[in-house]
Amino acid sequence: MLPLHLTGLTLAELSEFAATLGEPAYRAKQIFAGIHARRLRSPTEMTDLPKELRAKLIEQTTVESLRLESRYISSDGTRRYLFKTHDGLPVETVFIPEERRDTICFSSQSGCPLQCTFCLTAQLGLLRNLTAGEIVEQIIVALNDAYGEGVEPPHGTNLVGMGAGEPFLNFEALIKAIRIIKEPNGLHIVPNRITVSTAGVVPKIRELASIADRPHLAISLAAPNDELRNELMPINKKWPLRELLSACKDFEKSLARGERFTFEYVMLRDVNDSDEHARQLATLLKRHALKAKVNLIPHNPAEPLPYQPSAFDRVESFRAILESKRVHAFVRRPRGRDILAACGQLAARTDKPVNIQTVSHRLA
Ligand code: SAH
Repeated sequence: MLPLHLTGLTLAELSEFAATLGEPAYRAKQIFAGIHARRLRSPTEMTDLPKELRAKLIEQTTVESLRLESRYISSDGTRRYLFKTHDGLPVETVFIPEERRDTICFSSQSGCPLQCTFCLTAQLGLLRNLTAGEIVEQIIVALNDAYGEGVEPPHGTNLVGMGAGEPFLNFEALIKAIRIIKEPNGLHIVPNRITVSTAGVVPKIRELASIADRPHLAISLAAPNDELRNELMPINKKWPLRELLSACKDFEKSLARGERFTFEYVMLRDVNDSDEHARQLATLLKRHALKAKVNLIPHNPAEPLPYQPSAFDRVESFRAILESKRVHAFVRRPRGRDILAACGQLAARTDKPVNIQTVSHRLA
C-alpha cells in the first residue's frame, strides 16, 4: 500500500497532518512549497526542515507515487511520459512545447470507460480513477523534465485535462488537484490557464458552472446529430445533444463577458466531415444560441482504429462553412503523432516510438 501521498494534500490538509506530528503550521507551508514550488521529489532534499522531521516524513509518507517507465520525444519536440502507478497501472502525460507558452496535457484516469470509437484510450477500458496527488504529480514531473527541477517556466504553462480518461467522471479529484495546482505558495498555475475537456457528462458541466474559480471548459462533440454521435460516442445515448447543448447554454450564461468555451470536433474522413455536416453543426449551435468556438482536430490515426484523418482541403472547406455562418472555427495542428502522444493516441503503447529514450525511476 502507498503511504500517505503528500503531493495530493491541500495546504490545509498538510497543516492538519503536520499538527498530528506536533509540528506548527509554518512547517506545513515549508513542506508544501518544497513539493510544489521547489518541486523537490523527496523530503531528503528539504534541507530547510529539521533532520528529525525529514526522517519522520520519509518513514511515514511519500512525495513520489508515479514511477516513470519511459519518455518518448517527438520530432516536433513533444514529449510523452509513460508512468506506472504504485499498483502497476499506466498513466500518460504529454508536454507540448509551443512558440509562446508551453502546454502540459494530463490524464485524469488510468484508461477510460467511455467507448468513443475513434480514440485509442477507449481500448484500455477504465482501469481506475487517478487520485488528486497522481494528477498533480504528472505536472510536477513534466515541469522538472522540461525546465529543470524547480525552474520557473519562462512564460508560465498552460494545462489541459485532455489526456487519458474522462475528467468529469473523476470530478472530485480533478477539482481538488486544481485547488492544489493554483496555490500561490506552490505551482501557482491559475484556473484561467487550465482547460478541462469532457465528452459530455451533463450534470458535471452544470456543477462546474457553479464553481467560482474554475478552469476553462471544452466539450468533445465529434458529430452534429444524435444518430452519428450515438455511433461515435456512446455517452450520447445517456446525454443526447439536446441535453448536452442546453447544459452548455447554462454554462455559457455563467461566463464573463467575452469569455468563450470550446467545442472539439475530431475530423474523420468520410464519416463526419462533409459540407452537410458542417452546415448541420452550424445550425445546431445557432439553435441553442451558443457563441462557443469550434476546434477542428484532424483525426490522429493509430492501429487498430478504423478511421483516417480528413484531407487538408476537406478540413479547410468545413472550417470555411462554419465561419461563413459566423461560427468561429480553428484547425488544431496535430502534435506528437509519431510517438503516439497526440489527442486520442494515449493507450500506454510502447511500440513504434521514434527517438525512444527509456529512463529509469528518476529523470537524468
Ligand atoms: N474524455 C475527455 C477528455 C479527453 S480529451 C473528452 O472526451 O473530452 C481528448 C480529445 O481528443 C477529445 O476531444 C477527443 O474527442 C479527441 N480525440 C480522441 N481520439 C482522437 C483521435 N484519434 N484523433 C484526434 N482527436 C481525438
